[in-house]
Amino acid sequence: MAATVLDGIKIASEIRAEVAEDVKVLAGNGMRPGLAVILAGNNPASEIYVRGKVKSSEEVGIYSEKHTPSQNVTTAELLALVEDLNRRDEIDGILVQLPLPPQVDSKKVLMAVDPAKDVDGFHPMNVGYLSTQRPGLVPCTPGGVMEMLRRSNIPVAGQDAVVVGRSDIVGKPMAMLLINANATVTVCHSKTRDLPGVCRRADILVAAIGRAGMVTRDFVKPGATVIDVGMNKITDRTEFERFFRGNEKRELAFAKNGSTLIGDVHPEVAGIAGALTPVPGGVGPLTIAMLMANAVRAAKLRHGAAVPVG
Ligand code: NAP
Repeated sequence: MAATVLDGIKIASEIRAEVAEDVKVLAGNGMRPGLAVILAGNNPASEIYVRGKVKSSEEVGIYSEKHTPSQNVTTAELLALVEDLNRRDEIDGILVQLPLPPQVDSKKVLMAVDPAKDVDGFHPMNVGYLSTQRPGLVPCTPGGVMEMLRRSNIPVAGQDAVVVGRSDIVGKPMAMLLINANATVTVCHSKTRDLPGVCRRADILVAAIGRAGMVTRDFVKPGATVIDVGMNKITDRTEFERFFRGNEKRELAFAKNGSTLIGDVHPEVAGIAGALTPVPGGVGPLTIAMLMANAVRAAKLRHGAAVPVG
């Protein structure tokens, strides 16, 4: 039987609607959440991401502003900008779009963001809050995966979860969130022995690797929930056919665009998994929705007990 498709577009729109309601209440109390995005230099992909983030903010009623220092910006200039945004009370969230230009000390800039405004959840203070289960800001992509599991009524407590990938942005916080939700968690990476065998133990398998279609049928226990975080662009015809031969919809899109997106999970997994996130339309849309949710959460946390923190 084909896996249930976990629809990220639908879940993201539910989250955005809830965020918009929260924003209305906060704005009514004179506390409209504000998000500042820093886009340094001219990276076309970053420009597209930032445009999406600003547009989403507007749609849910969050005040947003974009700062666009030039490609030649120095670390000191960016630190001064971050300091200014840290000081401004109407700004609740600061997002530094990565990558920064090569001459900039990215770690130093990210460390300078006030943890209370760190809507990406990357600051070590928020990492510590997450690992000690204190209220803080959680990275958007793994946070979105947890929302997807919760809203799809997929049990987590007591389940065996395997996360493939140990990045600071996805794999590690994903593992921590699953531990906090009482799963039994194994984290795999490039040095893991017998990766398919370890993955086959999973009731919930999260792939955050960055390798097109690497997770094949033999990685998956029949009926498991498979979450595909990967986003890989395919432009090569032979590779395309390896994954999507006979898929009419993909054929049309590939012919038109000369590329298609594929996750880390091979399409054949749909024939063995119990539930599966598609790419595109799975985890991706949740990431921006959770950024909006984080901006509201930051506003609530910063304003203390005046408003309930959801
Ligand atoms: P990353 O920093 O490159 O980390 C990749 C992880 O995968 C590393 O821990 C690496 O192991 C592991 N890995 C690589 N090759 C492996 C192999 N052959 N076997 C086992 N493990 C292997 O990537 P990331 O930032 O976490 O992102 C992962 C994927 O998610 C990418 O495709 C990215 O585009 C996507 N992503 C999507 C969203 C979204 O919104 N949907 C958001 C963020 C990222 P080592 O640590 O041993 O090197």
